[in-house]
Amino acid sequence: MGGRRREHAAVAWSNKKWRILYLPPRKYVFCSIEATSLRKIGRISNVLSAARFRMAISESRPSVARSRLMASVQRHSTPLELTVRRLVRGSGHRYRANVRSLPGSPDLVITALRKAIFVNGCFWHGHQECRLAKLPKTRRKWWSDKIEANRQRDKRKISDLRALGWQSISVWQCQLANEARVASRLRRFLS
Ligand SMILES: [Zn+2]
Repeated sequence: MGGRRREHAAVAWSNKKWRILYLPPRKYVFCSIEATSLRKIGRISNVLSAARFRMAISESRPSVARSRLMASVQRHSTPLELTVRRLVRGSGHRYRANVRSLPGSPDLVITALRKAIFVNGCFWHGHQECRLAKLPKTRRKWWSDKIEANRQRDKRKISDLRALGWQSISVWQCQLANEARVASRLRRFLS
């Protein structure tokens, strides 16, 4: 690999730390960063609502700072995923998380039932008519293309799973405001 590659990232305050959420990959990659390096990356306004910006990262010659940043990158489950796992556990089912051997790497699978659960952030997965999925005012076209591509990919993975005999369900971030309702929906899905 060489040259400069542009990566897209959002900054968010999560778990008492500033985080950069890189995209794609399929999963969010959280990495905690120092407030001082944040200032170097760019001016951030209204970070609580996850200010979004592009950052250029040199892939060819990693700087010391870059190496340190990469070393601190960890794959974490999102709080949403943890909540859904807890609900599935509560319903008495055994699951596997992040199953890469299936289309779309479902967040949870219940192998015995051939059922898969996706946990979707409303923004990145383009939840329709959802206030959490409102696009930023700037670079609107770019964002809507990107989110639409994500939506198409989500549709594809669901139909790929179906073709393999797997049923799937998507749990949306905004729905988790009412955990009881999600829990009963999951119970129905898994019964
Ligand atoms: Zn939503």
